[in-house]
Amino acid sequence: MGLTAETNRIVREFDYSDDQLNQGVSEFLAQMELGLEKDGTSLSQIPTYVTGVPNGTEKGLYLAVDLGGTNFRVCSIQLNGDTTFNLTYSKVAIPRELMTAKTAKELFSFLAKQIEVFLRTHHNEHFEHRMRRRFTFSNPEGFQDEEIFRLGFTFSFPVQQIGINKGILMRWTKGFDIPDAVGKDVCELLQTEIDRLGLPVKVAALVNDTVGTLMARSYTSPGKQGAVLGAIFGTGTNGAYIEKLANIKKNVPGSFDKSTGDMVINTEWGSFDNQLNVLPRTPWDHKLDEDSNNRGFQMFEKRVSGMFLGEILRLTIVDLLKQENIQLFRDANSSHNDWVSTTTVAPESGLFKQWGVDTAIMSVAAADNTPSLGTLRQALEDQLLVYSPSLEDAQAFKAIAEAIGRRAARLSAIAVAAIVLKTGKLNDPSWDGEPVDVGVDGSLVEHYPYFRDMMYEAFKTIEGIGEEGANKIQIGIAKDGSGVGAALIALVATAMEKNQPTPEVLSKQRSSIFSVGRIRWELSRVSWWQWAGVGLLTAFVASRRRDYLFGLWRRYVA
Ligand code: ADP
Ligand code: MG
Repeated sequence: MGLTAETNRIVREFDYSDDQLNQGVSEFLAQMELGLEKDGTSLSQIPTYVTGVPNGTEKGLYLAVDLGGTNFRVCSIQLNGDTTFNLTYSKVAIPRELMTAKTAKELFSFLAKQIEVFLRTHHNEHFEHRMRRRFTFSNPEGFQDEEIFRLGFTFSFPVQQIGINKGILMRWTKGFDIPDAVGKDVCELLQTEIDRLGLPVKVAALVNDTVGTLMARSYTSPGKQGAVLGAIFGTGTNGAYIEKLANIKKNVPGSFDKSTGDMVINTEWGSFDNQLNVLPRTPWDHKLDEDSNNRGFQMFEKRVSGMFLGEILRLTIVDLLKQENIQLFRDANSSHNDWVSTTTVAPESGLFKQWGVDTAIMSVAAADNTPSLGTLRQALEDQLLVYSPSLEDAQAFKAIAEAIGRRAARLSAIAVAAIVLKTGKLNDPSWDGEPVDVGVDGSLVEHYPYFRDMMYEAFKTIEGIGEEGANKIQIGIAKDGSGVGAALIALVATAMEKNQPTPEVLSKQRSSIFSVGRIRWELSRVSWWQWAGVGLLTAFVASRRRDYLFGLWRRYVA
């Protein structure tokens, strides 16, 4: 069989039909119900505790860190107290060996070190001053309270949250595997390492990225209604949505006010259909799972998110390369190659290593629609050390990459569609013709060409949505909403610690908020309070006083 025929065969294996989509949505809805009934199901459906209030501490420097899976982000927000703030941001890739370190200490000491580097780089004067003060004041912690940087910790792994800055790690995902950390409070793990370095930093709040995204989007979306769902399509995939308390059948420990009738649920949908009732199973999906460190888990995520798509692609390419009679990356004579050269794959190419193909190259493949595929071929050289790939090579690579990307987008549509259907908002007269708003974040949805368009295409074929319903769904990027949200939660948490009075700050006004400068976001008067609102609501998720917050939200926003 020639390269083209074999490529077409592989592409067809990644087809996911309209019928399959509809079965997927039914199954997702059923698994959501199950997760609301009891623990230990595929979809964990974790109740989140949200409290907190902005309280006049609108001056000061707050920190936020975000452990997403691929990168560790550190940012600070200087609240100027005059309606502006400055945001400073840095990002480092997490070394792969730390993801499977022997002890939690190895990872968390690395994170603490990054916080120190960030403070020294961007806030050195402030930092040195605080460190100096540390030795001049002699309280038990070594710092005056006001000398401490408050930090919001966005931690995007399954956590049982038990307080605003307390959460027990349930299990690792996205290639992390540090058994030592499971069952421990991740805030404490980070705080211990921060203290070991003697940094003047307190972990003040813990937040899941999906919840941060939901809250951020609620305030930034253009309509009158808040978002119904916050979703991540980055290294991993997950979503958080607003559920009716009456639908949560399993026990929600702790006392909480039930007056709003709602609670935000963190679905942990990366584990949707671990039993493979409806998810596709190509040989390459199977191989990826077999070789992973959490076999049988996160089966949805393993077909959808950034960490895994490149690996699925790699496995298909490796299969093609094994077939002697298939002409992939091996034109024998320079006349066979329109670059008049012959193709060589370096032995150290990522194609021959597990996780060696970054999903980002799939975006390059999908975006390059030129006749000669010059950009993709250059990327194959630069990133995968395939020298002088022929046009036919690049065409095959592109076709398979697009098939995998398209399947991922259609599977993503299952989760979003099911939740939109569950909210009943598409046909809710009280929704008043407003779009049903969904906030998304993550490199995949942000950068993969037409990812959202392919989701919409899928929505149209889903029963109960159709063309009309699809037009009502509005998916908007809430870029780094989680990071910014976390810093503001730190602010809110600090105010709660100090038991300050609660100003009523939530505004009815929304606007499409912020224009992103590289490091400095100037916000208008209204925007600043909107951000405070984001923090407020996110904090609401993170602790036990959610009742007050949801009350305010309902009254002034919803
Ligand atoms: P995190 O999950 O750590 O918050 P991101 O949202 O940036 O981080 O997602 C990182 C993941 O997205 C990685 O798996 C990476 O391979 C993938 N990715 C990065 N850039 C792109 C791109 N341009 N197109 C598709 N996927 C990308
Ligand atoms: Mg992220």
